[in-house]
Amino acid sequence: MQIRGRVRGIRSDRCRDVWFWKLATNGKFKTKILARLIDENTIMENRFREETFKNNLVSGKVGIFIWRVLKNRLPTHIELDKRGIDLDSVRCPLCDDGLESIDHALLFCKHSFEVWDRVYKWWNLGPVTRLSINEAFRGENNHSMSWVGCQIWQALEWTCAYLIWKNRNSKVFSNKSWNGPMALMEIQLKTFEWITSHSNKLKID
Ligand SMILES: [Zn+2]
Repeated sequence: MQIRGRVRGIRSDRCRDVWFWKLATNGKFKTKILARLIDENTIMENRFREETFKNNLVSGKVGIFIWRVLKNRLPTHIELDKRGIDLDSVRCPLCDDGLESIDHALLFCKHSFEVWDRVYKWWNLGPVTRLSINEAFRGENNHSMSWVGCQIWQALEWTCAYLIWKNRNSKVFSNKSWNGPMALMEIQLKTFEWITSHSNKLKID
């Protein structure tokens, strides 16, 4: 079969009956790559319009993740159910102790809460006081910290939420999970790696 026409972004091979996707270097189409490109080209545009979602100390993908969180665009079980996806249950796949909303997944699930508790204790901030996603990730910091301290704390909070969600996905899709000490260590290492690679001025241990 020969295909003479051209579809934008796709070309046909004259010898083999194969489609090439020009947006990937190997010519293979993957929905995962398409989703990432859509994220980068549409969400990033909005992200930069809304200064709130910028923190130069973390990877850009974390900023995009927080943007999705604040726009209620994480595919939690409740959100998938609202969009007509047929699921066995809308309960939390980690604790089975509540419906899996974004607030539950990132803040109130006992597994997430344990992680936050460890992070708060590490920073000597007392009990975890977050009441909502907006308060946790959009609001001004109430702690008596310097501007730099606030930026680092926000980078840490965003990284923590990002890794909690990543851990949730590992549990759902690969049946792997963290324990509390492992989670804290990964959050510390990842935050350190991102901060030191995104800032020449900050010297942190
Ligand atoms: Zn849960």
